[in-house]
Amino acid sequence: MKNLPDLCLRYADPHAYPAGVAWQDGQYIPVSEAKVSVLDYGFLHSDATYDTVHVWDGAFFRLDAHIERFLAGVERLRMKLPIPAAEIREILHNCVSLSGHRKAYVEMICTRGAARDFSRDPRDAENRFLAFAVPYGSVANDEQMRRGLHVTITNTTRIPPDSVDPRIKNYHWLDLVGGLFDAFDRGGETALLLDGGGNIAEGPGFNVFSVRDGVLRTPDHGVLQGITRRTVIEICHEQGMSVHKGDLSQDALRGSDEVFITSTAGGVMPVTRIDGQPVKEDKVGPVTESIKKSYWLRHKDARFIEEVVYPA
Ligand code: PLP
Repeated sequence: MKNLPDLCLRYADPHAYPAGVAWQDGQYIPVSEAKVSVLDYGFLHSDATYDTVHVWDGAFFRLDAHIERFLAGVERLRMKLPIPAAEIREILHNCVSLSGHRKAYVEMICTRGAARDFSRDPRDAENRFLAFAVPYGSVANDEQMRRGLHVTITNTTRIPPDSVDPRIKNYHWLDLVGGLFDAFDRGGETALLLDGGGNIAEGPGFNVFSVRDGVLRTPDHGVLQGITRRTVIEICHEQGMSVHKGDLSQDALRGSDEVFITSTAGGVMPVTRIDGQPVKEDKVGPVTESIKKSYWLRHKDARFIEEVVYPA
């Protein structure tokens, strides 16, 4: 790795919020100065893919898995990264290191870019890569983590997988944002969207799990294959618990002993009310607590982490 101060043209402005460092066009800049052109199809058509990884106590968690998912998305969208894929890791490390954040939310993004003469042919566009590191954020706040989130099952259907491949992490969020407003209108704190069959799919930035009689269920159709979801499934298998990946009806979710959601932004987050009604006893359950604990223990496990080197 090169000398970090030499790589950073200008350090992050400590007064800008959120304070952080971005990489763009070969330079490290304050995140507040990172820009996407108004003519970039990533902006105009949501023609982009991205991935989000977090840094916890100065170490990346499952960085390989996030880069792998990102590169698979780039390939499925027939994009070509303007930098060698092997450089992504170093760029992300440098963004975090220069930001100084020991708990960070880190995005890598590939946009379709702009095309000469504003060509409508996506093959003419010059694809762009950007990355940034900002302070860590969670779907659930401290109080919600303690007492459990109150979610609303909306009538909004998640974009069908035949229309947009949900394995490609994308910014097609109008259904998710619409679902959030619907949830707020009905007194919820966040939303669950449905799949085409009226079953539970996922929410704005998270997957969902139901626990009943010691068995876990999580939707599999039309959802992002979340890396936190994968981690939870691995933890369950290690601990001898069964996980069924498949349809999860609204009634099955409402009849759960425990419900939790999973995301890089927050980890394992309990849900204690659905549409204003308590899940079982309106308390964070023991299976959720135990999986959450194992999830955070993995953040000290050399198999999953990669330390960031910060300037002295
Ligand atoms: N589903 C959607 C739509 C998401 O955007 C995300 C993360 O941002 C997730 C699920 C959770 O995925 P992960 O656990 O990889 O963060």
